[in-house]
Amino acid sequence: MTELRCMPEPYKIKVVEPIRLIPRKERERAIKEAGLNQFLLKAEDVFIDLLTDSGTGAMSQDQWAGLMIGDESYAGSRNFYNLQKSIEDIFGYKYFVPTHQGRGAENVLFPLLIKPGQYVLGNYHFDTTKAHIELKGGRAVNLIHERAYDTAVEHPFKGNIDLEKLEAFIVEHGAENIAFILMTVTCNSAGGQPVSMENIRGAYQIGKKYNLPVLLDAARFAENAYFIKKREKGYENKSIPEIVLEMFSYSDGCTMSAKKDGLVNMGGLIGIKEDYELYQKVRQMVVPIEGFPTYGGLSGRDMEALARGLREVVDEAYLASRIHQVQYLGEKLKEAGIPIQEPVGGHAVFVDAKRFLPHIPQSQYPAQALCVELYIESGVRGVEVGTLLAGRDPETGEEIYPELDLLRLTIPRRVYTYNHMDWVAEGLARIAARKDEIRGLKMVYEPKILRHFTAQFEWVG
Ligand SMILES: *Cc1c(COP(=O)(O)O)cnc(C)c1O
Repeated sequence: MTELRCMPEPYKIKVVEPIRLIPRKERERAIKEAGLNQFLLKAEDVFIDLLTDSGTGAMSQDQWAGLMIGDESYAGSRNFYNLQKSIEDIFGYKYFVPTHQGRGAENVLFPLLIKPGQYVLGNYHFDTTKAHIELKGGRAVNLIHERAYDTAVEHPFKGNIDLEKLEAFIVEHGAENIAFILMTVTCNSAGGQPVSMENIRGAYQIGKKYNLPVLLDAARFAENAYFIKKREKGYENKSIPEIVLEMFSYSDGCTMSAKKDGLVNMGGLIGIKEDYELYQKVRQMVVPIEGFPTYGGLSGRDMEALARGLREVVDEAYLASRIHQVQYLGEKLKEAGIPIQEPVGGHAVFVDAKRFLPHIPQSQYPAQALCVELYIESGVRGVEVGTLLAGRDPETGEEIYPELDLLRLTIPRRVYTYNHMDWVAEGLARIAARKDEIRGLKMVYEPKILRHFTAQFEWVG
């Protein structure tokens, strides 16, 4: 790869938010007080926060200026119409309803589409998405292509659904037992891996053949479009807005968390291409759950920031810089001999903790142990995506040992510089030099549900 060449950010910094690296002794105290769980740290004790890319981005001067023309009318706010115009122009959709975030969109739309017992087929459903499918009595099925599970396989579009399996599933179970097809772009749960245009089109054609709606889970639609431009034949000379329009043309609607490619700190939406009847149902449903259909849980100023964010995110110079920064961190880690999941996806680098710390058995949470060590070493907060997150089998109560135990380093948009990436890589390189000393963890407090958020640990031995 030539990815390490210098690529200056296409913006300069006007406002700064100070961050502080507290002394090592204080970091040790802070993480111990947090029960060796980085979710329980105070954010002020974190130097570089790579917990998530959700809602952690920086807004532009144009978005901040937009806040001042927020129209907080209960009904018919001007900012709703500005946002509608952005969605029309960028997605090519006729209708939309704002929601407070992505899961709000799922909560409103899914009960209108799912009858109890029906399947929802997708490449790989995000966790709140799966939860909302199940809460509505549906069954979430992941049909991502098998190669996504192998970190060593290089493929440009590891987020692709297996189209043969998709059609076979519909034939076997009957189209009447399927609620809809949901394509997540990029595929978050597979490491931010992109989905090709060919694959989105293929899923849409299968949907049409069996008369099933096809939706996009569009949280990172612009990052996906950038990968299509860079990696898919025939798209190298198309503009990002052209690619985005084509992607959305192969869908009937979308749910979107605007906290990612919306470039805002809070927000979401339901988009509908042209089904007026469904739009009417969504408008009725959104009132008791999120709010009146022209605000849906957002203030006028928030809608304005989102209307502008959607236009900014399809700027190719921004996307090139964004994706490059993530790839840069991946390359730095590889240079230091740290095993990562490849290829690097759009929003995060994943360190393979099983390969990095082979002396820690999976029952002692190697990726969580590495996460704790990284915080102590350099004040960097990552997140475990492995055994801790997987939880227990609801029937047997046994620990589930997933194939991969990963430390995710998630990069917020427009927030950190290349020097920050160097600091993260150097911290991990110092850990690599003494990695045999790192001890595994045992859980001393285990909540029944979503245990990773509040679990507490001690070091083994
Ligand atoms: C973040 C996310 C969601 C949920 O959105 P929230 O805004 O966090 O509620 C759904 N799907 C995908 C792919 C996401 O990344």
